Amino acid sequence: MDKMKALVFKNVGQLVLEEIPIPKVKDPDDVLLKVKAVGICGSDVKILEGKHHFKPNTVLGHEFCGEVVEIGTHVRHVKIGDRVAIDNNIRCGFCSFCRMGLSSQCVEIKTSALGVMRDGGYAEYCLVPEKQCYLLPDGIDDILGTQVETLATVVNGMNTLQMLPYDYVMVLGFGPIGYLFSQFARNIAAKVAVTEIDPFRISVAKACGLTVWNPNEVDVAEKISEFTYGRKADIVIEATGNALETALRCVTPGGKVLPFGMDSSITASVTPNEITRWATKILGLYLGQNTMVPSIRIFQENRLNMGPFFTKVIPLEAGVSAFDCLGLDLKTLEHKPKSAMKIVMKM
Ligand SMILES: [Zn+2]
Ligand SMILES: [Zn+2]
Repeated sequence: MDKMKALVFKNVGQLVLEEIPIPKVKDPDDVLLKVKAVGICGSDVKILEGKHHFKPNTVLGHEFCGEVVEIGTHVRHVKIGDRVAIDNNIRCGFCSFCRMGLSSQCVEIKTSALGVMRDGGYAEYCLVPEKQCYLLPDGIDDILGTQVETLATVVNGMNTLQMLPYDYVMVLGFGPIGYLFSQFARNIAAKVAVTEIDPFRISVAKACGLTVWNPNEVDVAEKISEFTYGRKADIVIEATGNALETALRCVTPGGKVLPFGMDSSITASVTPNEITRWATKILGLYLGQNTMVPSIRIFQENRLNMGPFFTKVIPLEAGVSAFDCLGLDLKTLEHKPKSAMKIVMKM
């Protein structure tokens, strides 16, 4: 049987390079991809820590693109040789949420995600349903092609926020998600500031020409107040998962808070009376939704400064070491300073 190299998540803290069988096209709508490149996501780090839902013995990797090498008998829109980006979240298309245009809330979305609940792109080959494939134009290379799904989640956030040219925007947390939001804000809004605690990522924010504050060193609510002539932020994007209270202290009356980062271990205390009194809009949203095509368009037209986004490109064989750069010691599961924004594995 033909084998391929894959990075298999065995269990918490265990990511192992193995030779496993190349998956076979079985269902009529299956597409077999030769993976070109795959990004390492903050949620992969959380899976390895056991802080995200997971399934042992799964090939991780949900940020990937590849070339179609084999198709099932019912595949009609994708051809052999096509280069495609993948939406890793498989939506059933039949539940009432899917049918009412809210596919991010599909009742099956948690059970079938590629690279989480079924084998993903940390491998030389990956089997995906045809409807998850999005044709990539030549202007988007394989490295950028891995980030279409990541950007699609951020574009869903942008659709929800309806950012205006006179908005003051604050982004809490300058990981890859905070990075993408702040690039949009630079293009659209009146003014943007970001917060971050990690020294490497602070340096990336500076390299992007952004105003950045470390919440461990300064009172960011005071800072945003000065920065906006006493008004505070019209939009606060909370991209850490642990700073909703800070976000509420930084938003202006009538402003919007987008809790985007996810950390299920965090709780927050809010005063409902203040939400009402200050007319604060707290806008939840989840994943991308009809935003893969818009994201391809944004990348194709080079609308975002993606220069400092990619820290390095490594081979699949070096994947385990990347988690160290992303601040997780796999032996102890302890956190340490990061030395990367986004790392991509290129096959
Ligand atoms: Zn991701
Ligand atoms: Zn559904």
